[in-house]
Amino acid sequence: MSDCLFCRIAAGEIPADIVYQDEKVVAFRDINPKAEVHLLLIPREHVDSLNAVTPAHDELLGYMLRLTAKLAREQGLADGYRTIINTGPGGGQVIFHLHLHLLGGKGLPGFE
Ligand code: 5GP
Ligand code: ZN
Repeated sequence: MSDCLFCRIAAGEIPADIVYQDEKVVAFRDINPKAEVHLLLIPREHVDSLNAVTPAHDELLGYMLRLTAKLAREQGLADGYRTIINTGPGGGQVIFHLHLHLLGGKGLPGFE
């Protein structure tokens, strides 16, 4: 059993409010939302961070970004949204399984 929280969510071992999943990715609501809509998109494959990405992941990353736009539309974020990938301790990364934050709607924090 993996000791990575997001691997365990992807495997269904830990519950999450999943809004989309397929064979490559899972999207679920952040447990501590920073805006009205706050989703986390993760690859099913464990990748520590953006720093661990290789050319073999190019297709996966493109897929995740396209899916982000689709999920934003489905979440009603026609006016726009913010995407964030925190990388490493200095970038505020707390969970070391690559994830993309999709934020939008009321309460979207400033970019300070
Ligand atoms: P990071 O700071 O690593 O970019 O973001 C990690 C995010 O994961 C945080 O926004 C945090 O609220 C979220 N998070 C941490 N633990 C859980 C959990 O068990 N379930 C869900 N859905 N989100 C989590
Ligand atoms: Zn993982």
